[in-house]
Amino acid sequence: MQLICDLHVHTNASADGHCPVEKVLETAKASGLDAVAVTDHDTTVSALKALSLESEVIVIPGIEVSTKDGHVLILGTTKEYEAGKPADETITEAQADGCVVIIPHPYHLFRHATGLRNKKALRMADALEVYNSRYYIGTSNLEAKHAAKRLGKAITAGSDAHDCEYVGYGINVIEAEERTADALLSALKAGRITAECRKTPVSTYLRQSKNNVMRKIKRRLKL
Ligand SMILES: [Zn+2]
Ligand SMILES: [Zn+2]
Repeated sequence: MQLICDLHVHTNASADGHCPVEKVLETAKASGLDAVAVTDHDTTVSALKALSLESEVIVIPGIEVSTKDGHVLILGTTKEYEAGKPADETITEAQADGCVVIIPHPYHLFRHATGLRNKKALRMADALEVYNSRYYIGTSNLEAKHAAKRLGKAITAGSDAHDCEYVGYGINVIEAEERTADALLSALKAGRITAECRKTPVSTYLRQSKNNVMRKIKRRLKL
């Protein structure tokens, strides 16, 4: 089944985040997401809280670790990885724990871009965040896309929302076997993901992609 996920969202547990975790889940639901990854800076307080809340939206717990080389997104964990280590060491630890590792905004100058400082981390990661809705302008997203292609990595999108209204601006369609966080993470690891990032709400995107699916079906049936 195809599930729509935003893989990079902050709550007010991040020093620069403003959205309470309850509101993140509400907004995710209202905007048509099936799943949302709660990834605060160096804390899993809200990820843990999200898991305890009643919601139709699947919660992928995670953390955005501030390594010595820049930010590293770790999905599928409530563990608080130590900040300040070399990125490749943090990645080794997270992968040994069975987590999925994404390098977010890998080439964004002045944005804790791990890709600029630790090439090994790029090669080790499971995926690169090519679409980051906060830093949409410029060539850094394109540069990340080329790197992902060159390294054979899956491409992800993240709203990197620090305010409620941006939850759902990073759109990933993941082909998962069931509606669980584990199934989503296995599918991501296997590369069964299509990512897109738009400056449009997910509901508009859903309407458009539904039309596309209808067109494809009609073509196949030659209607
Ligand atoms: Zn970041
Ligand atoms: Zn972030």
